[in-house]
Amino acid sequence: MRSYCARLAVWIVIYLLFILGPLFALMLGSWPKPRDFWTEFSVALGYAGLAMMGLQFGLTARFRCITKPWGDDLIYHVHRRLSIIGVALVVVHPLILFVVQPQFLALLNTFTAPWRARFAALSTYSLIAIVVMAVWRKKLKLSYETWHISHMLLAVAAVAGGVIHMIGWGYYLVIPWKRALWIGMSVFWVGLLAYVRVIKPLFLIRRPYRVVEVREERGDTHTLVMLPEGHPGFRFAPGQWGWLTVWESPFKASGHPFVFSSSAAVSDGRVEMSIRNLGDFTSTIRTIPAGKRVYLDGPYGSFTVGDTPALHVLIAGGVGISPMMSIIRTFADRGDQRPVILVYGSRDWESVTFREELEILKPRLNLTIVHVLEDPPDGWTGEKGCIATVLLKRHLPLPYADHEYFICGPDIMMDAAENILDELGVPISRYRSEPPSFD
Ligand SMILES: Cc1cc2nc3c(=O)[nH]c(=O)nc-3n(C[C@H](O)[C@H](O)[C@H](O)COP(=O)(O)OP(=O)(O)OC[C@H]3O[C@@H](n4cnc5c(N)ncnc54)[C@H](O)[C@@H]3O)c2cc1C
Repeated sequence: MRSYCARLAVWIVIYLLFILGPLFALMLGSWPKPRDFWTEFSVALGYAGLAMMGLQFGLTARFRCITKPWGDDLIYHVHRRLSIIGVALVVVHPLILFVVQPQFLALLNTFTAPWRARFAALSTYSLIAIVVMAVWRKKLKLSYETWHISHMLLAVAAVAGGVIHMIGWGYYLVIPWKRALWIGMSVFWVGLLAYVRVIKPLFLIRRPYRVVEVREERGDTHTLVMLPEGHPGFRFAPGQWGWLTVWESPFKASGHPFVFSSSAAVSDGRVEMSIRNLGDFTSTIRTIPAGKRVYLDGPYGSFTVGDTPALHVLIAGGVGISPMMSIIRTFADRGDQRPVILVYGSRDWESVTFREELEILKPRLNLTIVHVLEDPPDGWTGEKGCIATVLLKRHLPLPYADHEYFICGPDIMMDAAENILDELGVPISRYRSEPPSFD
């Protein structure tokens, strides 16, 4: 826990340095004529807000040094929270000015306002649109792809508009090196987007994969079996995931994230992803022909087993079985005899994905399986309903806090499982959860 807090403190300091460093740089050298407190305060908020927005490009650039220590889901949560703070700072900046200097209200008229004010408006409206579309995407019925492309374009417009506005206004950016610093910083942040969308795909294009089989599984799920083509592939740890791009090229705006469900103990670079039919892209998986070229960006994620000898408790719901299958298959292939209990919730017996394979794998490792069915068949003597505290108490040995827990499934199930572990006195450091969504 202490090392966690120390790591958190270091990252917060680094973050603040990135935000405040360029602000303090503005105070070096000669200063322009000082204005009243509120004007200066509002300008500082504007600069800080823009620096925060720029840094968002760094958070989402899929750098493993950033995502690995915290997990991708946490980074995306932080990205969302910080964006809201950054946007609030940018929006409050003109609001304060309108109050202390009402003559600035005239700048709201786009037809008569100077260009520097028009760019400020472009930046601010883009940021507001980003927040509205991110928070209410589903209510607005925006497809993920449409939302994702708009999100990127609006983010670029917001940062570019903000910098052009600042340069146009001059004041703190009259001195050339200060101007160069802020322009350079903005180009760097936006360049990170180009890195993820253009440069990284150029690497991926030289490391394609071929689909060798599309296997039908129980529970409206299909497994894509892929082999690297002309390269050795990558190594992954069981529980990790990658971005899959199937159709045209890796430049396509949205790859889709899927966990590797296969064993990590293979020598030919083979990877499998087990994909449930949940929407427009996933419904097309069954139609992918063998031989199709695909692109994989990975591995990502920190939902991985370590080397502790503790009992591993895998709590899965629905397609959340995918990372657990990878863990179980890898344990079986490596002859790893550490004890594992799989608590696996499914709708009904017919939709239990990997049901037969789990039974085949069982003798090869120290595995206990507890199926929990929402809608059990007649004569079912196993667990029914949802995964609950009493259910876990029935199957887990004491002390509960000594085991390692892995949770993956629908959001509602994961929240419930985390609450149950809390009730059982399991500290947060003892469990990992992977949501099958970035929402
Ligand atoms: C880290 C991670 C691992 C996952 N592993 C698996 C897995 O092993 N098996 C599995 O079946 N599903 C997995 N998912 C969920 C899977 O990525 C989505 O179900 C899939 O992308 C839905 O796409 P769609 O176009 O078919 O559905 P849509 O109806 O278009 O989208 C359904 C929801 O999926 C999410 N989504 C859609 N497209 C993307 C995208 N390009 N990137 C991120 N999220 C998207 C959005 O929240 C969207 O609301 C995982 C998700 C994450 C974040």
